[in-house]
Amino acid sequence: MQNPFDNAMTQLDKVAKIRNFGDEFILRLRQPDRDIRVSIPVKMDDGSLKIFEGYRVEYNNTMGPYKGGIRYHQNTEINEVKALAFWMVLKCSVVGIPMGGGKGGITVNPKELSKGELERLSRGWIQKLSDNLGPNKDVPAPDVNTTPEIMAWMADEFAKITGDKTGAVITGKPVGQGGSLGRDTATAQGGFYAFEALRQELGLDEGCRVAIEGFGNAGANAAVIWDRAGYSVVAISDSKGGIYNPDGLDIAKLTDHKKNTGSVLGFSGGTDITNEELVGVDCDLLIPAAFENTITEANADKIKAKAILELANGPVSPKADEILFQKNIPIVPDILANSGGVTVSYFEWEQNLSGDSWTEKEVFDKLRTMMASSANKISEKAKESQTSLRMGAFIAALDTIKAAL
Ligand code: GLU
Repeated sequence: MQNPFDNAMTQLDKVAKIRNFGDEFILRLRQPDRDIRVSIPVKMDDGSLKIFEGYRVEYNNTMGPYKGGIRYHQNTEINEVKALAFWMVLKCSVVGIPMGGGKGGITVNPKELSKGELERLSRGWIQKLSDNLGPNKDVPAPDVNTTPEIMAWMADEFAKITGDKTGAVITGKPVGQGGSLGRDTATAQGGFYAFEALRQELGLDEGCRVAIEGFGNAGANAAVIWDRAGYSVVAISDSKGGIYNPDGLDIAKLTDHKKNTGSVLGFSGGTDITNEELVGVDCDLLIPAAFENTITEANADKIKAKAILELANGPVSPKADEILFQKNIPIVPDILANSGGVTVSYFEWEQNLSGDSWTEKEVFDKLRTMMASSANKISEKAKESQTSLRMGAFIAALDTIKAAL
C-alpha cells in the first residue's frame, strides 16, 4: 500500500504551491508534535501473555486539545496513524471547532479477541497513555473497529487512574454513559449535509444513484441516510465483496442479511460483485467509506461516477486525485465530508464539561449549519484559487491555523 503519510505530505506540498503560507509554517506541519508508541501487555484467556503495539500521535494543538479517534486494525502502523492525525488537524479547522489533531491505534485484529481480552487491551492503552490524555490535553474517540463500549471502558479506566469523572477525556461514549445523542450516525449524517450543500455544484440530481464502498459505521449509516432521503443505493461492499442492483438495493433487508451472514455477499436482492468492480460501478455518486488508498492510479480511470464523497480518510491517492481532476470528477474531500463525526464529538465534550444534554434535534440542527457553512467556505476558496475542493479545504484550514499561530 502507498504510505498514507507520504500521501498527506504530497497534499501539503501541493497546497504550498497554490498559496504562499511561508516555508516555516509548512515546515512545522511536516512533523507531529509527539509520536508515542507503547507496548501493551494483555493476559489472554488461555493464560498466555501477548504484547500489542499501540500508538498515539499528537500532531498539532494550535486550535485546541489534540482530537481524533483510535483505530484497531491488523494493518495499522505508525505512518497510517501519523497521516490520520495530520488530517484531523485540518478537519477540525475546516469545520471550525476549537480542537487540534491527533490519532491513535493498536495493531490488532479485534475480531480475533474475546470480549474480555478486548477490554483488557483497551484499558491497557489508557494505562500507558493516561499522562498524555485529558479533556484539555488530548481527547480520543472511536475510529475503525472501536465502539461506544470500548470508549466507555477507556473513560472508566481514565477516571480510575486520574479521578477525573467528567468523561470529557474521550468522546463517542454510549448514550447514558456520557455520550451525545446523534454521535453514532454523525459521520454519515454530516457527510449527507455537506453533500446537500454542494449537490448542485457537483452536477447531481436529487434521488440520483449512489454506490458505497464499506459497511462499517460510516458506510452502513450512509446507506440508510441516502436511501431515506430518496436516493437509489445501487451498490455497497464490505471487506469480503459487494452487492449490486441497478434498480436500487433494499437497505433494510440488506442490513438484516449482513447481520445474519456477516457479509453483503449472497443477498438475494442483488448480484455479487468484487470490491474492485464496486469502484467502477455505473452510478452518479461514489462514496468510499472504508480505508486509505481505495482509489489509486490503478483504478481511477475505471470510475463512472460523476462525483465522489470521501467518508473514509484518505481513500483517494494523490495521483488518482490528479486523474479525477483532469476528468472533471469533483471530490468532496475527507476533511470536510467526514468531519461530522468529530463535530458531534466536540458537542459531546462540551456537554460533558457543562453538564448540559442536548436533544438529537439540537445536535443535528447545529451539525447541519456547520457542515453547510464549511462546505460553502471551501467551495469559495476553491473557486478563488481555481483549484479542487480538496485544495480549497486545505487553504481554508491552513489560513485559520496560520492566523491562530
Ligand atoms: N475517527 C473519526 C475521524 O476520523 C472521529 C474522530 C473524533 O470524533 O474525534 O474523524
